[in-house]
Amino acid sequence: MRTFASWINLLAAIVLIPLCATRGHAADATPTKKVLLIGIDGCRPDALAKAKAPNLNALADGGASSFTAQILPLRIVDAETSSGPGWTSMLSGAWPDKHGWIDDVRRRRFNGQYPHFFGRLKTFNPKLNTVSIITWPEIQRMTTGADVNEVAKGDNAAVERGIEVLTKQNPDVVFIHLDDVDGAGHAKGFNPELPEYIKAIEETDARVGRIVEAVKKRPTYAQEDWLILVSSDHGGWGTGHNSHRNVVPEIRKVFFIANGPAAEKGTIAGQVYTVDVAATALAHMGVKLDPAWKLDGVPAGLKGFPTPAVSRPNEPAATVLIRAKK
Ligand SMILES: [Zn+2]
Repeated sequence: MRTFASWINLLAAIVLIPLCATRGHAADATPTKKVLLIGIDGCRPDALAKAKAPNLNALADGGASSFTAQILPLRIVDAETSSGPGWTSMLSGAWPDKHGWIDDVRRRRFNGQYPHFFGRLKTFNPKLNTVSIITWPEIQRMTTGADVNEVAKGDNAAVERGIEVLTKQNPDVVFIHLDDVDGAGHAKGFNPELPEYIKAIEETDARVGRIVEAVKKRPTYAQEDWLILVSSDHGGWGTGHNSHRNVVPEIRKVFFIANGPAAEKGTIAGQVYTVDVAATALAHMGVKLDPAWKLDGVPAGLKGFPTPAVSRPNEPAATVLIRAKK
């Protein structure tokens, strides 16, 4: 005679087996890896911490984060901390002595040997759909492998276009660059005590919220594995951030956020650098980083990867870029 418990087990089996079979079918399909990278130009992490930024805070709190990331390694003792080298390092995964875009003023340019990570993604899988929407046209000088490669007239236009692409198309990797925080810094000062700078961060936070909402509203979101990365190309001091001010900690220090199922929740131990952004995006998309590429970046904040180290392989003790080449 069946006990009460065995009847429950039988009932559970009858109900759950078809349910599991259905779920199992869905689980067979590995979620599609996707990356959204939001670049906030000139955002100091101490100002971000002071601003009312619920959307960025939610991404940081729910994911991996560092508020002590660096835009240059210690060994580079003399370099421009301007936007060209900053974005190029972040998007290529290599430092200026390798990619060649060492300053904006004298326009020594990108050598192409360390391409935008979209280029490496396209080599890995040409079918990946890549989208770059930027508000500072200079970034296009180093952008390769972008299916959508557009300059938007201002942050609001960039956000609207980004939302349109996320809603109506099927992008795999999206980079959206927002510039208003940098603009407020140059106009009034890069300073957490200045209301104008804080206001620009708070407005940018609202834009970030809208972009993230567009990702989550995608009809296929449940079958997708989004990694949302947010970082900045430099901080600032006074009303600037370059011209040999590379020793200023407030300029060199930025934040790094990685949010999504692949992110290891919590503050990232070790040292994150902006070159880790490209490496993290590539790793999430399934690209095995080839040592022959000699990238300086490593995956940061991802489950299953080691803590990013302060020193990266084969680093010389010190590198002089600007003074030596004047
Ligand atoms: Zn910048």
